[in-house]
Amino acid sequence: MQSYFIYLECTQCGARFDSGRLQTVCPGCNAPLAARYDLPSARRELDREQIGAARRGMWRWFGLLPVSDPEKIVNLGEGDTPTLPLPRLAARLGLHELWVKDESFNPTATFKARGLSAAVSRACELGVQRVIIPTAGNAGGAMAAYAARAGVPACVVMPADTPRANIEECRAYGAEVVLVDGLINAAAQLAAQRAREEGWFDLSTFKEPYRLEGKKVMGYEIAQAFGWRLPDVILYPTGGGTGLVGIWKAFSELEALGWLEDRRLPRMVAVQAEGCAPVVRAFEAGAEATAFWENARTSASGLRVPGPFAGRLILRTLRESGGAALAVSEEAIRAAQVQLAGLEGLFVAPEGAATLAGLVELQRRGLLRPDERVLLLNTGTGLKYLE
Ligand SMILES: *Cc1c(COP(=O)(O)O)cnc(C)c1O
Ligand SMILES: [Zn+2]
Repeated sequence: MQSYFIYLECTQCGARFDSGRLQTVCPGCNAPLAARYDLPSARRELDREQIGAARRGMWRWFGLLPVSDPEKIVNLGEGDTPTLPLPRLAARLGLHELWVKDESFNPTATFKARGLSAAVSRACELGVQRVIIPTAGNAGGAMAAYAARAGVPACVVMPADTPRANIEECRAYGAEVVLVDGLINAAAQLAAQRAREEGWFDLSTFKEPYRLEGKKVMGYEIAQAFGWRLPDVILYPTGGGTGLVGIWKAFSELEALGWLEDRRLPRMVAVQAEGCAPVVRAFEAGAEATAFWENARTSASGLRVPGPFAGRLILRTLRESGGAALAVSEEAIRAAQVQLAGLEGLFVAPEGAATLAGLVELQRRGLLRPDERVLLLNTGTGLKYLE
């Protein structure tokens, strides 16, 4: 096995950075770095069917992931989640084809496992000995699990009112848990300070380049599940935006690899909660960056991200794809959760339910044709949110 990873590139100014050293953000622009691969060589040497036949899981895409030595992979069985049709819901909504990619099958029961498997693997490969993360909840649990698996100490900083399952799982994995008054932005400040003062490596969303790489694999799996023809519309519950940006990055890599049967790319739709919708507000205003959202509130804790660090990248993705950004109410989220459970047997996280609420809103605005193929992302299990 060989990785085609060659360098890191600033997503703002395009400057290149050494992939063999520990990197954070572009020092010039304070913008995220993205991993770049030798895709021309990968195109000649990799075979999409061979990848399909490889051992199950996220790491079957090793050639397109940023770890050099396969022995360094920190693995808990992440990836290869099912893509399920939702025929009863589709009939209700008058849609031809509705699907969900159900990420609740991942270790720690949310898709955060993907990003943290990649980030912890690469950080440890480059010599990191302790990891810290600010989180709205699920990223902390995932980091704590992968850190335990790798045998390195972990510290998780999160709002005091994070769902109880998130706090308890971090403690169970042996992480130090720090609860803060305030939201993920307050947690991020404290984590950055402790990283500086105590030598932890900070795995904040987009402040290191590799969580994005784990999350992008959802994009490869989507292409594979649909026979290398992408859906028309993808609805994604957007907090920090790693999944949205990652899936879009995967599609452009697949294009460069020549693996897509049809060059038409999906419209990417960001769904947020009405009580915390910085991306929606910026999208509607035609702004290039998001502005901080005051008094953020929503039961979908993963969407409680008032100032996403990669706001520009999220907005760029939505516009490049011809997509949209929609806010949904708490009542609509709850109703969608009940519908997915009762009609399709899926007890989804409130964030996942928000995508169904977003779909209804997309239809209401006339932004969807009944013959289009629609994919929802359910990012986690509803079980983690029980009081
Ligand atoms: C973190 C999280 C989100 C938001 O994901 P981003 O990639 O940060 O936008 C959505 N759903 C769940 C369950 C989450 O934990
Ligand atoms: Zn830069």
